[in-house]
Amino acid sequence: ADPGTAGLDAVLGDILAAARASTDRGRVADYIPELAGVDPGQFGLSVALADGSQHSVGDADVPFSIQSVSKVFALAIALGRLGDRLWARVGREPSGLAFNSILQLEHEQGIPRNPFINAGAIVVTDAALAGHAPREYLGELLRFIRAAAEDDDIHINDAVARSETETGHRNFALAHYMRAHGNLDNPPELTLGAYFHQCAVEMTCAQLARAGRFLMGAPGMPRLVSADRVRRINALMLTCGHYDGSGDFAFRVGLPGKSGVGGGILVIAPGRASVAVWSPGLNAQGNSKLGTEAVEMLARRMGWSVFG
Ligand code: GLU
Repeated sequence: ADPGTAGLDAVLGDILAAARASTDRGRVADYIPELAGVDPGQFGLSVALADGSQHSVGDADVPFSIQSVSKVFALAIALGRLGDRLWARVGREPSGLAFNSILQLEHEQGIPRNPFINAGAIVVTDAALAGHAPREYLGELLRFIRAAAEDDDIHINDAVARSETETGHRNFALAHYMRAHGNLDNPPELTLGAYFHQCAVEMTCAQLARAGRFLMGAPGMPRLVSADRVRRINALMLTCGHYDGSGDFAFRVGLPGKSGVGGGILVIAPGRASVAVWSPGLNAQGNSKLGTEAVEMLARRMGWSVFG
């Protein structure tokens, strides 16, 4: 076994105990009504290692709404379709602004800062649609995620997608604004229909940790995109994966990660592990509060960091 993974189970036990003892769990996102009722007391963590083993604690088998973690899979699909042409429509810089901010779009002619803020992810989904019906794109997305996780029991929660369709006025505003600048190929309703369903994919921590293995760059893992692209997706996760909390996440955890408002975070320790953590309560930047604390402790205790 990799000496770098000895003691992992003890570390996971300590993290679970710390999470259970926590009195400040953050706030569950309530702007998507269907997600507002999720029990904030839940916590799950799963680690898929390069040696093929998987180690989980807590509520690692409870499905949750992956929300913006889906933007990683969507980006992989859009890059597969368009290659570097995608970068004419979306940038690669951290935004320093909230996940749903519209501010920069006016200054930057409808070109979003990066593929992980909402505006950028909407463009990525629009590009990935590339003349296909939303149903076909969502089928491809599910096939990609299921192949990555090697698990077919992964589905979209239609009630969550519907709930966001009815209340997602900010995302409609972003989509219409980009359409006005010629940076949306499809009608906003069509692209957002695909985007809201993409965000409504449900997975457990155990499934998500396995689905992230293609980003580990380790031998024997599912190879769904090229090694070069894996490095670039990781770079974007490190710099942009936590919205205006990306710098702080890099400082505290030192690993690429992508968060979602459902409280999930996918974290990659290149060459070593794919980690999924979930706790529904969020911090001020809209990232899982206990989830961030848990992966901070995991990275520190295991000595995992992209900075050596
Ligand atoms: N579906 C959510 C939205 O567009 C995703 C945001 C997130 O997970 O951070 O508002």
